[in-house]
Amino acid sequence: MSVENVLKTIQENNIEWVDFRFVDLSGRAHHISLPSTEVDAETFVNGVAFDGSSIPGFRGIEESDMVMMPDPASTFIDPFTQHPTINIMCDIFTPDGERYERDPRSIAVKAEEYLQKTGIGTRANFAPESEFFIFDDVRYESGTNSASFFVDSEEAGWNTNRKEEGGNLGFKVRVKGGYVPVAPVDTQQDIRSEMSRLLEEAGMRVERHHHEVATAGQAEINFRFDTLTKTADNLLAYKYIVHNTARQYGKTATFMPKPLFGDNGSGMHVHQSIFDGDTPLFYEKGGYANLSEMALHYIGGILHHAPALIALTNPSTNSFKRLVPGYEAPVNLVYSKGNRSAAVRIPVAAVTPKGCRIEFRTPDSTANPYLAFAAMLMAGLDGIKRKINPSELGYGPVDKNIYELPEDDKANIRSVPASLEEALDALAADCDFLTEGGVFTKDFIDNYIKFKRNEAKSVAIRVHPHEYSLYYDC
Ligand code: GLN
Ligand code: MG
Ligand code: MG
Ligand code: MG
Repeated sequence: MSVENVLKTIQENNIEWVDFRFVDLSGRAHHISLPSTEVDAETFVNGVAFDGSSIPGFRGIEESDMVMMPDPASTFIDPFTQHPTINIMCDIFTPDGERYERDPRSIAVKAEEYLQKTGIGTRANFAPESEFFIFDDVRYESGTNSASFFVDSEEAGWNTNRKEEGGNLGFKVRVKGGYVPVAPVDTQQDIRSEMSRLLEEAGMRVERHHHEVATAGQAEINFRFDTLTKTADNLLAYKYIVHNTARQYGKTATFMPKPLFGDNGSGMHVHQSIFDGDTPLFYEKGGYANLSEMALHYIGGILHHAPALIALTNPSTNSFKRLVPGYEAPVNLVYSKGNRSAAVRIPVAAVTPKGCRIEFRTPDSTANPYLAFAAMLMAGLDGIKRKINPSELGYGPVDKNIYELPEDDKANIRSVPASLEEALDALAADCDFLTEGGVFTKDFIDNYIKFKRNEAKSVAIRVHPHEYSLYYDC
């Protein structure tokens, strides 16, 4: 949408409020609303002032004046407000007119500019598969944990001897038994359809929705790929629509990677490819999974930098509770066609040359998509520039189920970091690929690591419910 179209939309829909949004370091959206009468073409040139000092991970109080610069292309009508409102994503600039180096969206924009500067391609396409759970409203304050948050496989599983609130288990989803059963087992068809309708209205093209593998209302809605920053904008809108539709249904939706011990977690597999104009650069007939050499090098970059990359694609302590064997989440740093236990999968079913892409399966939705997509592109581009051949470095291809390989073969396969702290150590040691072309700055990375180390520590010092079962009766 152009500025002109935004102003027309305001007129035609009697829009009362224009909601200017930006994301913080964690990828959470913030907003300030202006009466539509205060917004004109000038607003898109001068921006909207706000105080950056109160935003987690941003500036100190001494340099708090910031400017939001709205990107008209991200505009959509808010489906949830009583007063007609449009939402517009913004980049953050300093009062001097420079892009703020800690603004995640600016980093995404810079990564796309960098791709063009390298001459490798003109456009990188991204498509996330962001899974989530829809729960009945649950309380999770310390000490009042809802049983559903700490359910384990035995408890939630098929158990004929057990009476459960709400009747027998005949039409309940078993642990890991949620993959696409029809109603009445699937009770969330309508809520997913409603979410999808609102996504379409917000300008996204929904390709499918379905119940996911885990027991308790795990869901996935896929929307069509787009360019890097646009896809991150779409993901923000997706989360907003999922969260708020669930709320309208008296439910709560969470993208937390591993809310239920003993069942599948929620990932955000990210499909990616590079184009030069209309020409897909990842396709070459006859190559492994019909991949071009460039695509293999891109994979090489992703896998080579994966331990550092994961600090940005899996940036929560909870992320690492998902990255364990047995739940379709990857633990092995290898690539493979079709194999879902590999960190990089190359989809081969019903793939056209234009649809030829790689799927990085490690990420989850606690990632800030602007940072995560930018970082993946930077890792891939580094692989292309340095011609990193993933096979020569021992990253596969492995086309067997890696969980079941003989121990000797498994011993040579590298794994994802085991914790957020480990991933942050890897990022501290390997960040030059991110600072190429000034896309990420060293200040940004240092600040990010500090911010996330504090987060990890805040979790580590708290008493965990499982400690009671291990130690209470010592
Ligand atoms: N939920 C799985 C994960 O954590 C993926 C399941 C799937 O999409 N096949 O990545
Ligand atoms: Mg999927
Ligand atoms: Mg899925
Ligand atoms: Mg997938």
